[in-house]
Amino acid sequence: MKNKDTINILIVEDNAADARLLQLMLENHAHLKASVSISGSIDSASSDAPDVILMDVGEYSRPKFRLLRQLAATSDAYIIAISGLDEKKLALEAIQAGAQDFLVKGRFNSDDLLTKIELALVKHTRAQNLRWAQKLNKLMAWSYQWESKEFHWIDSHPLSEELATFLSKEIRLAIQDALAGKKWDSEILYSLSGKDDVLKERKYFHLTIEKFSTEHPPSEIRGIVQDITERKKADELLEETHQKYIDIFANSSDGIYLSTTLGLPQECNKSGLEIFGITAEELLNTNIHHFFSNDSIQKILVDIGYKRPVKNKEIEVIRKDGSVRNCLLSVVYFSDESDMYTGILRDITERKMAEKIKRTRVLEMESNQLKEQFIAAISHEMRTPMNAIIGLSNLLLDTNLNQEQRDYLKSIHYSSEQLLGILNDILDISSLKNGKIVFENKNFDIHNLLQSTVHNLSYKVVNKNVKLDLYIDPNLPRILKGDKLRINQILYNLAGNAVKFTDEGQVKVSCNLVGQSGDTVLVKFAISDTGIGIPKEKQDAIFESFTRIKHKTRIFEGTGLGLAISKNLIEQQGGKIWVTSKPNEGSTFYFDLVLELGETEVEKNKEVPQQGIVIVNPKKIMIVEDNKMNQLVAKKLLAKRWPELEIVIANNGQEAVNLIDQDFDVILMDLYMPVMNGYEATAAIRNHPEPNIKNLPILAMTADAQIQEGDKHKEYQLNGFIVKPFDPGILYEKILSQLNQSHAEA
Ligand code: ADP
Repeated sequence: MKNKDTINILIVEDNAADARLLQLMLENHAHLKASVSISGSIDSASSDAPDVILMDVGEYSRPKFRLLRQLAATSDAYIIAISGLDEKKLALEAIQAGAQDFLVKGRFNSDDLLTKIELALVKHTRAQNLRWAQKLNKLMAWSYQWESKEFHWIDSHPLSEELATFLSKEIRLAIQDALAGKKWDSEILYSLSGKDDVLKERKYFHLTIEKFSTEHPPSEIRGIVQDITERKKADELLEETHQKYIDIFANSSDGIYLSTTLGLPQECNKSGLEIFGITAEELLNTNIHHFFSNDSIQKILVDIGYKRPVKNKEIEVIRKDGSVRNCLLSVVYFSDESDMYTGILRDITERKMAEKIKRTRVLEMESNQLKEQFIAAISHEMRTPMNAIIGLSNLLLDTNLNQEQRDYLKSIHYSSEQLLGILNDILDISSLKNGKIVFENKNFDIHNLLQSTVHNLSYKVVNKNVKLDLYIDPNLPRILKGDKLRINQILYNLAGNAVKFTDEGQVKVSCNLVGQSGDTVLVKFAISDTGIGIPKEKQDAIFESFTRIKHKTRIFEGTGLGLAISKNLIEQQGGKIWVTSKPNEGSTFYFDLVLELGETEVEKNKEVPQQGIVIVNPKKIMIVEDNKMNQLVAKKLLAKRWPELEIVIANNGQEAVNLIDQDFDVILMDLYMPVMNGYEATAAIRNHPEPNIKNLPILAMTADAQIQEGDKHKEYQLNGFIVKPFDPGILYEKILSQLNQSHAEA
């Protein structure tokens, strides 16, 4: 109505003369632009959407009052009731039925009417604002006539028919309750389920009931229904979130507590109580901050006092029983006004412990590695003088000595051999650990291998009451492929230990075929003894380098490297080693290896003795070596085998290159020398223009384990190598093989 130029006025009057009179009164007013229509029935009254309705209510006519009520409920219009009867009661009834004003026919002129209508306009605007507010708040007013049991919505905000029916039914029930003395306020839940009982819609309403008159029962009851679904849902969500937080609080593995910034606790979850080592009852009588300790806690507590951030600060919690937990403390403050805060404690005791153990292990490993590297370097240096000692004592043994001298010399020789064994072990373990060992994969006779290992050990049991036995599974194929020397080394280590740690009884070496699949076999070796045994707690440690078990009464010789080497050798060949043992009863060491089946033919051919070949002996050899002792050893050994041999000594690579055109048969070349090393000298010789010189057989003399791997020497254009300290037999054999090979090729 506000922004409209014309006011729609509807006159509901069945007396045509009266209607016409009203119409004239309104139309004669120059400043009121009104469109006036007249109707006798309700239909047109509602469809024209009038702003003001002038309605004749007769002299208390029931149908007219019903029409009035209906109009009041369904139309937005301002209703002025008109009657021919000037009666206060009638006016009141009309107002109660929904009219906003009352006029008596013949008692008002056109100005009066105009004033009423202008007043109506103001009131109407106000009413509309009110309705708007109602709509915003989802408020719906209703009225209920006690006698006629009529229920209707006043200015209702649009509802689905189903919902309107549901609510009116609920309201009727609530009215009965209210009049029976129960509550005048209540909540109504409306839920609509769809297909398969799935909840489609849920709405909440708040209902307020009011008596509209004083008599009992009241003739009219009114009330308000407010749609509070949104608020309810927000409440539900809040409750859900709240519950979630409560669950997190209760079940968190972190300790969470609520306390004043001075440490007076209010609440603490289960994990928190566990960290402090107290019960929920004890909590309230303590000061949380008294559990905290370490150097920095004072600063943290000051930070908490001033509400400064504290995040993942490491602290110690001294529990009630005195034990200590390492924790990380984080703090969340409440509002600025509150002196409360939430403390979150993460127990990291186990983590710290694990880290510490890990750090110690890493340190241990690093220091072990350093130890191994250091010892390996030293051992390498020691092999060169060892070469001289062993070589010279060998030579000396061949000279004229009296018995006493011979005995001393034998002891020196024996001790040197032992020392050399230790040095070799150390170098072996360091190469194994650095993955420097390459395994051969060649045919070998495993039966022979086992027999010769056991045979070689037999001298060790001579003075003991120990029986040495061998068992070989008859199904085990004879020829397999693998690294014969390395397998021998393992067997020798394990069986050697068995003999060493057994005073009487039996040492038995067995080998079984566990399974075969295509070309591969799984072989299991077992070395058992009836010796001193190994305590359970030491059974893992003995496989580490330098680990030996101390015995109160006896000292066994050894370095603690044998098992570490064996384990590495086995694992690097893809196998496994383990032990079962009982102190004073004996031990059994097992290991298994996966090996390929070998080719029998090749192995046989090799064993056929070569006949009809004339062996060529060397006439002139050059020894390139800077160490005087080693020069002497080599020279003496060669002279012993070939007394006619001409030997030329070069003190370094450069001298060798200078002397090269003297028709040598073989060159023995040390690798590490001053001025020019063996690699450089070899390269220089290989670049010589003369083919006879260029292709001279050169054998490296080395203490370096590295050159022994596979075909490594070939990279340096060397024909072969002899490892220092050299075994005389091998030295001769290698020289002969070079010489005869080059002769055969020539
Ligand atoms: P070594 O024998 O040189 O000391 P090993 O690595 O071969 O070094 O062995 C480590 C330790 O394991 C030995 O010192 C010994 O205490 C124990 N051990 C090894 N084999 C046996 C065995 N058959 N019976 C009893 N103890 C053994």
